[in-house]
Amino acid sequence: MKTFNCCPACGSSDIVFEDDKRFNCRECGFIYFHNVAAAVGAILEYDGKLVLIKRAKEPGKGKLDLPGGFVDPKESAEEALIREIKEELNINLNGPKYLGSYPNIYQYEGVIYYTCDLFFYCKIDVLPVDFSKTEIEDLVLLDPLEIPEDKIAFESVKAGLGIFKSSGFSI
Ligand SMILES: [Zn+2]
Repeated sequence: MKTFNCCPACGSSDIVFEDDKRFNCRECGFIYFHNVAAAVGAILEYDGKLVLIKRAKEPGKGKLDLPGGFVDPKESAEEALIREIKEELNINLNGPKYLGSYPNIYQYEGVIYYTCDLFFYCKIDVLPVDFSKTEIEDLVLLDPLEIPEDKIAFESVKAGLGIFKSSGFSI
């Protein structure tokens, strides 16, 4: 965590980052917890295929991902999922089901965010066409058994898809 050089309380450069989660100022004693961030991902099934996105931005630009994003303050995971899918794909989710969670590491602008990614499954009956071009380069429809693991952007997404596959697709 070299991005942070000074204590935000006193300006001292005598700060340490401990246990992957805590900035501690040795000058004034100020502590800032860089807590794990909650994020959500949607495994969307359309006509027997899964809807993956090709990322338009770093991290993982050009790689495959699930639609979703970070949970906002004062928001539930379910609310975040519905909001993110509306923002990214312009569709309304109906009755997403929670599958499980997996840790991830997300590096953005030089800052490392440890996340806890919560995965949900939902069937959709219309294919998104009006999707966000700033977030998504393209949509990719894939048979769940033919998703190329080496093209997936994040370990947590591989794990989330693994939970779905191990369910035998009967959710
Ligand atoms: Zn300080």
